[in-house]
Amino acid sequence: MAEMLTGQGHTFNPTILREYDIRGVVGKTLGAVDARAIGRGFARILREGGGRRVAVAYDGRLSSPELESALVGGLAESGVEVVRVGLGPTPMLYFAAFTLDVDGGIMITGSHNPADYNGFKMVIQKKSFFGPDIQRLGKIAAAGDFVAGAGAVTVHSVFDAYVARLLQDYDGARPLKIAWDAGNGATGDALVKLTAGLPGEHILLNQTIDGTFPAHHPDPTEPKNLVQLQAAVAEHRCDLGIAFDGDGDRIGVVDGKGRILWGDQLMVLLAEDVIKTRPGATIIADVKASQVLFDEIARMGGTPLMWRTGHSLIKTKMAETGAPLAGEMSGHIFFGDRYYGYDDALYAAVVNTPELRFPCSDTRKFAVIDEVRDRLRKDGADMSDIDGVRVRTRDGWWLLRASNTQDVLVARAEAGDQAGLGRLKALIVAQLAASGMTPPSF
Ligand SMILES: [Zn+2]
Repeated sequence: MAEMLTGQGHTFNPTILREYDIRGVVGKTLGAVDARAIGRGFARILREGGGRRVAVAYDGRLSSPELESALVGGLAESGVEVVRVGLGPTPMLYFAAFTLDVDGGIMITGSHNPADYNGFKMVIQKKSFFGPDIQRLGKIAAAGDFVAGAGAVTVHSVFDAYVARLLQDYDGARPLKIAWDAGNGATGDALVKLTAGLPGEHILLNQTIDGTFPAHHPDPTEPKNLVQLQAAVAEHRCDLGIAFDGDGDRIGVVDGKGRILWGDQLMVLLAEDVIKTRPGATIIADVKASQVLFDEIARMGGTPLMWRTGHSLIKTKMAETGAPLAGEMSGHIFFGDRYYGYDDALYAAVVNTPELRFPCSDTRKFAVIDEVRDRLRKDGADMSDIDGVRVRTRDGWWLLRASNTQDVLVARAEAGDQAGLGRLKALIVAQLAASGMTPPSF
């Protein structure tokens, strides 16, 4: 069996080799044979660089155990020692990769994607394995250019050490009442242990790990997936609500009034804290973040740096610049000064909870949103008004909302292609103009 791939190529479905990770639909574009070939290709690259040990973990998806076992087999038969870390969130695997005596780490996870997806996030020598690395892995596999060997396989849980490390940096002076939504994702067990160690009162939702995601989709960047959390915050009169994506590297937050705080708003709060202790510090945010964030970082005495979207790209830039904090609109938050520089939403939750307070301002920005909402409602638009207005059209969606941090309106749009995006932007501009606003330049 072990020789099956040796000397003969394995060609991946080209759609699964992505910029930041490998991801596909199980049974359609991704299966155990791919997982084994990923193990063999990764092993070759690791051994070329002098590496010999790899930590492996997996999320709560139904397909994850099978992919994990095939991946472990591929690594071991290529002479790599494998440390099986077991079930948990992606940041737990990163923690293992940064603290154990290993040269790399591979996480089997479909992240925030639907239940039939799965994939692989990789680190090598404490750096993201992405872009050209992934392309090269594909070429090695296609050529069957593997190395042979017999690596030992051991089991080593880092679960307790990981949660203890999360708790180490909690410095909240004031106990809070918090609702947490694990979304039945891989953070569930860690969240139970984490909240048991935190002061205050904690209401847990969907903490049972279940790869069918029965409650809602494990993606807190979609407002509809935060509805249950908002209801719990209201019902229990919580100070705030925190949600995680399926593998715990993205965070979603709602304040005590149930309002969603987007990634860049969280970054404003976190940056304030970091800049206080490190004046002039470089703070990185992706190109999707609002201008307000960059302006705020500069105003507070930090050095804003705009960088490309993508967790691997951001992490690499962070290491290069020594930035203590970086974040993406998608809810990936990275801490470099006291933590390890990878995106851990559970860590973000622990370190920022005492800071989450928003003044409620009462100016024209909210009136404009009300007017836009009324017009759209009259037109019968497909709209969510849970936070500003978010409208779906055949081209995609657009969003217009009043910032909670500044006297500004924030607009966003997403479409399948440039022409569609142009049409969505035109709709935003028309709505602003109808309320007497000067349309923004996109
Ligand atoms: Zn994720």
